[in-house]
Amino acid sequence: MRYALGIDLGGTNLKGGLVDETGRVLFKASRPTPVEQRAPEPVVETLISFADELRERARALGLEPEGVGFGPPNFVEGKDWIQRQVNNLPALNDYALRPPLAAALGEHIAIDNDVMNAGLAEYHFGEGHNYDRVLFMAIGTGIASSIFTEGGQRLRYIFGWPGDTGHIIVEPRGRLCTCGGRGCLETVAAGPAIRAAAMRIATTNKSPALAARLTGQNTLEARDVTEAALAGDRAAGEIWDEVGWYVGVALTSYLHIYDPHVILIGGGVAEAGELLLEPIRRTIQSLGSPYYLQHLRGVKKAALGPEAGLIGAAALILLPESLR
Ligand SMILES: [Zn+2]
Repeated sequence: MRYALGIDLGGTNLKGGLVDETGRVLFKASRPTPVEQRAPEPVVETLISFADELRERARALGLEPEGVGFGPPNFVEGKDWIQRQVNNLPALNDYALRPPLAAALGEHIAIDNDVMNAGLAEYHFGEGHNYDRVLFMAIGTGIASSIFTEGGQRLRYIFGWPGDTGHIIVEPRGRLCTCGGRGCLETVAAGPAIRAAAMRIATTNKSPALAARLTGQNTLEARDVTEAALAGDRAAGEIWDEVGWYVGVALTSYLHIYDPHVILIGGGVAEAGELLLEPIRRTIQSLGSPYYLQHLRGVKKAALGPEAGLIGAAALILLPESLR
């Protein structure tokens, strides 16, 4: 059996673990992401000491990881891994991350964007392993996708991504987006948009459940909308119907472009489960071309949950180069 370490650089926590070649996580650990740092060196030192700690823990079990894979939530450019558009670790913006990591950890290191890693894990070890063409969409603070064609080939168009799939227009007369465009999917279906919708409805008299939660905790999250909807709050259920509608509109366009056999929804917002998936399916069925619909065998929740990112980061070491 072969092993590797995977480290996912989240906005709040670094999540790391030892993963075997079947995608199983043998152990995991986390530590706070050093978001306050202004200079890159302390961030790099944190990554190195976290990797060293994980490696020592593996060796204590008698297991030797072959290398370390990393998954930052930003673009990575060139052989020196220059970090671009880094939002949660601004100290790393435009920084060449590979040389100092290679000097400390050796040459068996790898990197890819966090959503690409999560998609890689789902494709090989999760819900995607029975399908050739897979579209994995992660919905969290932002929305992004990883798209696979036959034989595990991944679509890479700009910055190693399949494009900015969270910024397809679904509401042309809608709100301005953080990207500067108008009516993007993120403006109506990402975590902040769901939170804003919940806050709006909580201050009307339409949702007793959300109003009570807002009074109790001063803020609302997607999780509150899920719990309120499951408890029978109609207005909370309607928030998920609308989010599912918009995600379904976007995914129907992607269905027509990429012809996936399965669509997997991951990221924190996917924890809403059927509340989100059911309106997505209904929308795709109502808008889609029968030609493409006949190839689509399901719209499912991704299987690996919040561990997908670190499993995929380790998979960058464990999978053959042709599949990464
Ligand atoms: Zn946008």
